[in-house]
Amino acid sequence: MVMADIVIRDCTIVTMSKMGVIRQGLISVKDGTIIYVGRKIEAPMFEADEFIDGNGKIAMPGLINCHTHAPMSLFRGIAEDVELSEWLKEKIWPLEAKLRSDDVYYGALLSCVEMIKSGVTCFSDMYFYEDMVAKAAAEAGLRCILSSGIINAGHKMLGRILLREAVKVAKKYHGSLGGRITVMLGPHAVYSCSPSLLKKVGEEAEKLGVGVHIHLAESKSNYDNIKETYGKSEVEILCEAGLLKPNLLAAHCIHLSDEDIALMAKHNVKAVYNPISNMKLASGIPRIRDLLNAGIVVGLGTDGPASNNSLDMFDTMKAAALLQKAKYMDPRVLPARKVVEMATIDGAKAVGLESVIGSLEAGKKADIILIDAEKPHLKPLHDIYATLVYSARGSDVNTTIVDGRIVMDERKIKTLDEHEVIEKAEKAAYDLLSRKDVVRSLIEKFIKK
Ligand SMILES: [Zn+2]
Repeated sequence: MVMADIVIRDCTIVTMSKMGVIRQGLISVKDGTIIYVGRKIEAPMFEADEFIDGNGKIAMPGLINCHTHAPMSLFRGIAEDVELSEWLKEKIWPLEAKLRSDDVYYGALLSCVEMIKSGVTCFSDMYFYEDMVAKAAAEAGLRCILSSGIINAGHKMLGRILLREAVKVAKKYHGSLGGRITVMLGPHAVYSCSPSLLKKVGEEAEKLGVGVHIHLAESKSNYDNIKETYGKSEVEILCEAGLLKPNLLAAHCIHLSDEDIALMAKHNVKAVYNPISNMKLASGIPRIRDLLNAGIVVGLGTDGPASNNSLDMFDTMKAAALLQKAKYMDPRVLPARKVVEMATIDGAKAVGLESVIGSLEAGKKADIILIDAEKPHLKPLHDIYATLVYSARGSDVNTTIVDGRIVMDERKIKTLDEHEVIEKAEKAAYDLLSRKDVVRSLIEKFIKK
């Protein structure tokens, strides 16, 4: 008899490893780690604290949201039908200037609830007050990669202060909670950070041994402005700043030349495809087929809840596939299985955690979701990957397990009081809107230090 904490029996397992799909499967978990994945009939006898009946359910790796701004759930629906520059400068940045750390905490908690309920077990975040995002993720029981936003946008001092803050967060949180929280540095974008600041970020990241998370080539006008100002592309500027490395996580990657793609591939840079945000802000459509053909690892992201307006990775998987097929007028582009890889094992590679998560196999951390497949829109189950990408919804997720802990069971969140979180986040959002925008409180806060 083998001792385990959790045993899931009789499920169909989409392993995302070389084991492929296992029918009548069994997964067992001990001390946060998967100790067995395989056919039930071949499994040893397990004694466990918790047996989960997986009949009619699909078990798969928890989804990895490679690019979001979790606290921005407070801004959901606040800046609609405008393009990126107006969205940022006229809507989002003035509101962010009024943000307090509590707002960030409640916004992040609200997003954590949404993510748990739609099967996301790990998210890669970029925002301010990331210590509050860490607090929310810790309480929710989620895995996350924190990136403290760094920006100077013409204010030299601001860049230095935010970089100092980001380094502080990295030192405090990288590898914390038994590795459930890791950290990257988060220079916002090439257009909002000077080349010298980018270089400093690269040097600090190197010293800390952490990755860098940035928005890259998201807007055509910004891309053109950079080219005009510096005579170089955004990718070339990152290259000169020493940031093109395997641990650079580049969100969007829309307006790239063939030379940019070749340069990114040469340095094994990781890309994040955020199809819904790209469509909603009319930023353009990234050339995912070309990035993949160049050998670049591409993860999937929702982007922030203010430009999506959801954190449902099932929505994102479907949009990811459909948009590329339409772009290239070729239905063979991004087959369903590849899209599931992007949301799981490729996402894990993108955030540097492929040895820890992204597939269901013995030795990896137990980040597992169970999908209730006994639903009319999921029947019949001819092609499991197509079902997951084109038919499944976040609300089909029945159970969410992170690091071997059941954080949602039968759609009930066990780590947080869902209704209390919704109430407090809603109150924080309305308070923020009614707050007077006298000065940029964020800058003030850091200048006082
Ligand atoms: Zn973003």
